Amino acid sequence: MLQRLSPLLEPDLITAGVLADLPLDVLLAHQIRALVLDVDATLLPRTSAEPSQAISRWIEAAALQLPLHLFSNNPDHRRIAAIARRFNLPFTAAACKPRRGALRQVLEQLQLPAPQVAMIGDRLFTDVIAGNRLGLFTVLVQAIDADGRPAARAPVQRAEMALARLVGAQLVSPFQALP
Ligand SMILES: [Mg+2]
Repeated sequence: MLQRLSPLLEPDLITAGVLADLPLDVLLAHQIRALVLDVDATLLPRTSAEPSQAISRWIEAAALQLPLHLFSNNPDHRRIAAIARRFNLPFTAAACKPRRGALRQVLEQLQLPAPQVAMIGDRLFTDVIAGNRLGLFTVLVQAIDADGRPAARAPVQRAEMALARLVGAQLVSPFQALP
């Protein structure tokens, strides 16, 4: 059971920083044609309502080139809707990652093969497992703080990475330099 789980816990890419530090060109070089983005701790901390300038610029630049979809487990529909509205993006709240149902619907809307869609988030046991179960290109980013920098403490993310290694997942040291 645990051996079966470990490949699902291996992201295709672990970034060297937060989402805004990930060059869009890296994704385009992997033939990525759409992005499914986690919200809390990926775009902004759960406790803030305002994404940093760097994240806002990154999303605006990405949206010029690719379809984006905000995809959150947060049941607070109003919060996720407000963030999505700000960037004029479609969204899913209460997505139930790592379950596949809601993500399958997004893939159907995108009309793209799963490997051409990137699932980007800060959590191995929700974002990465969900994406890997459906064959998306999965990206683990560092959890973000209110200033848009990597969070100094990201206990959940660190604990999940330690647990993933314990069950045999091959994870390069957090967080490797981009190839
Ligand atoms: Mg998150």
